[in-house]
Amino acid sequence: MNPSFTDVVIIGGGMVGLAVAHQLLERSPGRTIVILDKEKTLGRHSSGRNSGVLHAGIYYKPGTIKAHVCVSGSHRLRAWCEQRGLPINACGKVIVPQRPELDGQLDVLAERGRANGAIVEFWDAKELKRKLPVALTSSGRALWSPTTAVVKPALILQRLQQELQERGVHILTGCLNWDVDPDRRCLELPNGGSMSYGHLINCSGLQADRVAHKFEVGLSYRLLPFKGLYWQLKKDCGIQIPTNLYPVPDLDIPFLGVHFTPSADPEPVVSIGPTATLALGRENYRGLEGLEAIMTANNVLTLANQYIRNKGGFRRYVHEQAFLALPPLLLSAARELIPSVRATDIEPSQKVGIRSQLFDRDTGKLHDDFICMPGPNSTHVLNAISPAFTASFALADEILDRTCLLEAKT
Ligand SMILES: Cc1cc2nc3c(=O)[nH]c(=O)nc-3n(C[C@H](O)[C@H](O)[C@H](O)COP(=O)(O)OP(=O)(O)OC[C@H]3O[C@@H](n4cnc5c(N)ncnc54)[C@H](O)[C@@H]3O)c2cc1C
Repeated sequence: MNPSFTDVVIIGGGMVGLAVAHQLLERSPGRTIVILDKEKTLGRHSSGRNSGVLHAGIYYKPGTIKAHVCVSGSHRLRAWCEQRGLPINACGKVIVPQRPELDGQLDVLAERGRANGAIVEFWDAKELKRKLPVALTSSGRALWSPTTAVVKPALILQRLQQELQERGVHILTGCLNWDVDPDRRCLELPNGGSMSYGHLINCSGLQADRVAHKFEVGLSYRLLPFKGLYWQLKKDCGIQIPTNLYPVPDLDIPFLGVHFTPSADPEPVVSIGPTATLALGRENYRGLEGLEAIMTANNVLTLANQYIRNKGGFRRYVHEQAFLALPPLLLSAARELIPSVRATDIEPSQKVGIRSQLFDRDTGKLHDDFICMPGPNSTHVLNAISPAFTASFALADEILDRTCLLEAKT
């Protein structure tokens, strides 16, 4: 093998990129793999900043890729953590309708969950009171998901990175300004070196559209960044929430609403969030850090247009979720689930993440499913939104199946 040649290059060492490398090794141990990430350490973006919920597969429309990979991905990641003794809070999840008219949505969720292979159970108000006395159901019913769990994403990434490196995967970090010649299958690296490859897989998360555009792939797609801020219950507030507690989501918009999540720590911290407000940049985690003024102006115009045309119930997202970063609104959303929560019971959390949603300029629609597009000697994972962390191992298999990499001559 030519030393500057690698069989497969993966751009992005988040959970999706690492899981793709893992599954590639399972299928074909002899292949050379390089993962290239622009950051000095892995986990600086979505995979290191998420809620850590292993979703049970309830929300997703049967027939979508999400529905196909969530349940098996969740089982596989959970078993992988168990085998390594990594922390898991097997606390389950309750979904409650925050207004009586949302009760019917519980049936839709239960139907979807069962069709996807998830276990769900209905609880009446008595059962809810017994299991989670602080929670309220506005309709007398709640949906229980016993297999939802919470993990520690940063520990999972670290362990997976270590195991991949031990198995010979090269992980090049701090590789920001690389360039590519797709026809020659050649990467120019920031240190002046170059590397040719057989196939390239783009798993670059919040930047995946920009990377794809270098290959003339997905030119009508643009990722819109939404900031997710969290609050948390104060340790001494006296409110006990031993399980995940979620509202009934608006199934037309891609966010699940503000929820309570106990962490997988020995003494769980209960986070409240995340919110979903337009971010000022793809990596605008705090203040003006990572500000992208022109992109933001374009995104504001796009969203204003969506609002006016009310595409996909977009106005409801704006009314119900866009301003939840404002503490009084967040608190009132939290009180719909737990009426006894007071302003003095919660405090801001250090956690913040950015969720990207893929917008198609041709159709004027936000995409709600994973997208995996072929390009010249390359594959582009364009919308690795939630539950991509949960589903990562199964999603990786799906990506590799679609890539037909094993048959390709590299
Ligand atoms: C607030 C929040 C809460 C969430 N909660 C959950 C949850 O509870 N459960 C769940 O299953 N999912 C959740 N998700 C979704 C989940 O975190 C993501 O779907 C998943 O982490 C995506 O992984 P990824 O590898 O595609 O992206 P990332 O983790 O963002 O990784 C992409 C990597 O690509 C690198 N990169 C980007 N551009 C380049 C470039 N040009 N060159 C080289 N490298 C590059 C980045 O540095 C990064 O390391 C949540 C997301 C957020 C933001």
